[in-house]
Amino acid sequence: MSYDIELHPELYFESYAKLAMIFDAAKRRGYYGVKLFNAVPLRTHYYQSYVTIDTITLAKTVLGHGRLPKTSNRQAKMHIWRQCFDLTHPSFHPRGKKPSYTHEFQGSIETDGFGVSAQVKRKLARTYVDHPKNLEHIRACFAPASRRNIILIDPNKRDMLFMMEMAKPPLDGGPFVARGATMPRTMRYTSNNRRFDTQSRARQLHAQQLRDTTTIPMPPGHYGPPTPISVIEATMPSRKTARLAEFNVWLQAQAEWAPDLIGFYSDPIWRDMKFTGVRRRQRSEDNLIKRMREKFGHKLLVIMGDWGAASAGRHMRFHAPSKVAGFRKLFQKHHIPCYLLDEFCTSSFCPDCHSKLKKNVLPRRLSPRPWRARQGQMDQVHGLLGCKGCADPQWPANPKYLCPLRYWNRDLASVKNFNNIIRHMLDFGGARPIHLSRS
Ligand SMILES: [Zn+2]
Repeated sequence: MSYDIELHPELYFESYAKLAMIFDAAKRRGYYGVKLFNAVPLRTHYYQSYVTIDTITLAKTVLGHGRLPKTSNRQAKMHIWRQCFDLTHPSFHPRGKKPSYTHEFQGSIETDGFGVSAQVKRKLARTYVDHPKNLEHIRACFAPASRRNIILIDPNKRDMLFMMEMAKPPLDGGPFVARGATMPRTMRYTSNNRRFDTQSRARQLHAQQLRDTTTIPMPPGHYGPPTPISVIEATMPSRKTARLAEFNVWLQAQAEWAPDLIGFYSDPIWRDMKFTGVRRRQRSEDNLIKRMREKFGHKLLVIMGDWGAASAGRHMRFHAPSKVAGFRKLFQKHHIPCYLLDEFCTSSFCPDCHSKLKKNVLPRRLSPRPWRARQGQMDQVHGLLGCKGCADPQWPANPKYLCPLRYWNRDLASVKNFNNIIRHMLDFGGARPIHLSRS
């Protein structure tokens, strides 16, 4: 279905608009959980953010070409780019070792109308662990003599990574050990780490201060003192509505205030702030690599789950899903080999006894968000799973699952299952354990 939406989006527009109206009506009847949205996407920022221009956009909208060459035809592609850009400029030059080059310009740029970045990309091929060559590489690193440490990573919602090192066979036989520790060590990279590294709070405060201190005079027909930008934005009616009358109110407010707001946001400081954010995010990611190397050793190999590839409904083998692509690029930049592993079922089975894990094993608790808690909302604890197979059989059965279960942290269970899959693949020529396989 998601494939059909991409092909014929116009067929789904009517039902999408209807959905917006149903949501709107539900909100009016007092359902707090409903999130309103616009059936027709609108521009929400007054400042220009970076947009990507690829070959198709350039040919169709800028040059007005009707027919397009095949995207695999590199010469035809570059011919289109040469009509607008000087490709002899150093920014478009290929990088890396001659003569094959590891990175080259593949026909896409990013721009905000002032700055331009040419994307010099490297082809990411053979991404999944099940490729025989990749498996051979992992086998070599898994050998007792190898100094490379294998790190298993479970990417989560909200750009969180949970990592664990893989225990290896020791040189002198005996039980498997993790390097430099009795237990495999774990590490987290959370959105809070990133917030701390990027100092995004400080930037938010600075932006708020600018909005509070800049005032603009009232438009003709209104009376009152000059109003700060923050007040104008706070009193602006919501654009998320499916009713014509309310949408008209929003349009009128836009017509009145938009020229002043656009003037305010055209100040270079807003572009500057965005750019600073991008730079600091990159620095934060470099920091992550540093922390990983301090903890797990200098030579690393990463095996990462392909989060979202299956749930988005377009799981394609040997193609990296976009969600983890950013992290893969980061590892590549630091010369850490990175392979993907199909995450299928890894958080639904116990890594020790292979029985099905139970969800929602604890009684509900008050929501951790203060605002929701005040409304009395109770939440499930989603991070904890229970295993009946590992439970103490002597314990009396409890209908609420309070104790006769072994509790697993979802992320830990997941990476431990990664570990089981890799071990199984190495032993049985690339085959996954049956209970963790598709079909
Ligand atoms: Zn178990």
